[in-house]
Amino acid sequence: MNLALLGPPGAGKGTQAKKLFEEFGVPQTSTGDILRDAVRRGTELGKKAAPLMSAGKLVPDEVMVGIVLDRLRQPDLSRGFVLDGFPRTIPQAEALGSALERAGKKLDAVISIQVPEETVVERISGRRTCPRDGSVYNIYQNPPKRSGICDQCHGELVQRDDDKPEKVRERLAVYRAQTLPLEAYYDKQGLLRRINGVGPPEGIFAEIKTALGRS
Ligand SMILES: [Zn+2]
Repeated sequence: MNLALLGPPGAGKGTQAKKLFEEFGVPQTSTGDILRDAVRRGTELGKKAAPLMSAGKLVPDEVMVGIVLDRLRQPDLSRGFVLDGFPRTIPQAEALGSALERAGKKLDAVISIQVPEETVVERISGRRTCPRDGSVYNIYQNPPKRSGICDQCHGELVQRDDDKPEKVRERLAVYRAQTLPLEAYYDKQGLLRRINGVGPPEGIFAEIKTALGRS
């Protein structure tokens, strides 16, 4: 089973990818993990990506695509994969499509997790992290016992810059402009499955299984 997950930041793609792995044994391949792995192993493309990442810059399409395709050739993915965070643009999707074709593979479905933008803003801007031990809370869904204080170490919680509402809106605008057109792209190929991403993760996963004909 070869899948790709679409959805804005905060849609819960990582959670669903983990559930897909637990139920069907298809490894999650998140772009962040793949990138960090390529950099750590010092592959040719990893060496190109490393300075960009440490400068906080975007890794260009051709490097990103190369790194993902390297990963897809590794033996643990021979039975399938769940792409999380890739493709992010139409050119990436086209590169992925032709590389899979050359390898005699194809995507079986593209799952788009739909969450209203204001819900995303609330989910992400509700995050609070502990700078000391990395614990993550959400003031709406998973609040600490005492407001603003880490349960683990009793240190003060902070809101990361990236999680501030105006930053979240910027990320959503980028998603809308660059990634959302992939819905129409994959719909035309008959691969798109739209899933309601509001509600408990178990219910969302049940919908995904139904959409895949695996319930
Ligand atoms: Zn803490």
